[in-house]
Amino acid sequence: MTDDALQAIEASLQKQVSLASYNTFRFDYPAEYFAVADSLEYLATLLQWANAADQPVTMIGGGSNLLICGAISGLVIINRLKGIDAVEHSNGSVTVTASAGENWHQLVRYTVEQGWHGIENLALIPGTAGAAPVQNIGAYGVEVKDVLTRIQVINTHNGSVFWMDANECGFAYRDSFFKQQWKSTLLITAIELTLHKESELTLEYGGLSAHLSEKPSLQEVFELVCRVRSEKLPDPSELPNAGSFFKNPVVSQTAYENLKTRFENLVAFPVAGGMKLAAGWLIDHAGWKGKVRDRVGVYDKQALVLVNYSDISAAGLLALESDIKASVFERYGVLLEREPVLLPESARKLELEQP
Ligand SMILES: Cc1cc2nc3c(=O)[nH]c(=O)nc-3n(C[C@H](O)[C@H](O)[C@H](O)COP(=O)(O)OP(=O)(O)OC[C@H]3O[C@@H](n4cnc5c(N)ncnc54)[C@H](O)[C@@H]3O)c2cc1C
Repeated sequence: MTDDALQAIEASLQKQVSLASYNTFRFDYPAEYFAVADSLEYLATLLQWANAADQPVTMIGGGSNLLICGAISGLVIINRLKGIDAVEHSNGSVTVTASAGENWHQLVRYTVEQGWHGIENLALIPGTAGAAPVQNIGAYGVEVKDVLTRIQVINTHNGSVFWMDANECGFAYRDSFFKQQWKSTLLITAIELTLHKESELTLEYGGLSAHLSEKPSLQEVFELVCRVRSEKLPDPSELPNAGSFFKNPVVSQTAYENLKTRFENLVAFPVAGGMKLAAGWLIDHAGWKGKVRDRVGVYDKQALVLVNYSDISAAGLLALESDIKASVFERYGVLLEREPVLLPESARKLELEQP
């Protein structure tokens, strides 16, 4: 790219843009450079500029799993790549391809309207299709990895675009290589799901079956998930939050049994490698549910969700997080881990260096 072309791109970028309306916590920090990518070609051009100008790149989808705690240097790209394609196969399966900037919930709604099974339990999760694999979103016994077949990515260093097999991406509970080692090298540009015209519904989690008839339709499951979630979780457009703030910690069977002798109502589920404790229960029974401090707090209907009443800086929320973690550790000996991604990257690195 010539110097003139680089300068022209730089001149077209917005500078020092507030990210308050690009994260669901609504914390107000600026992006040094800011652009909205609505085509793969423009995204590739932006990456070329960032490489030539030696600027780091941060991609944001819906900003619903972010904890922004400072100004972001380099280029922030808002992903708005759009397009959905579907191919029905004679064996009853359906290949659905969605560009990364598609709204996840609208994608779920569309597949349910077509009668395609697979992601109905993941209704009403905010954010974009492209971010869904990043932390392997999950709800009501289903994770996106269960239906993901391929992921299209762009390499931030050389601009090459290619498809990867989903089983190469290190999916785990609220985690993947995209959230870890690939975070600055591979950006997701599209996802491919395999859904089914006929399939068993997953109803045994979160008490779904108790609210449904014996043979519920796909649409009924979708509507129930939407209703239950709306009752339990705050709508970020009314009360800023990032959903579950902590992951459910996994402890050994022995640690679980020790805790159970002290806390007989402890909520936990068996998983590979031990027992997964309900972080919301731990926080609630440590006395935090509904607590409001300064201008942030713990949601009164679900202790796993931290909310921002009116703070523009993340300092109060970080202090609240730290106190909750200390109190849960003191009471149960269990260390909670944050679920949302901390930005800027420099803050995350600093945190990792701390003992
Ligand atoms: C009310 C509420 C309820 C929620 N419920 C759930 C739930 O039930 N289950 C669940 O798993 N999550 C839940 N979440 C969390 C969140 O909605 C998901 O993690 C969602 O997938 C985030 O999408 P996003 O587009 O907003 O990502 P962002 O918040 O914009 O980004 C999250 C991370 O992904 C990276 N990223 C974004 N787009 C891309 C891309 N195209 N390529 C590479 N990296 C990218 C970002 O850099 C960042 O590191 C909830 C959040 C809220 C506010």
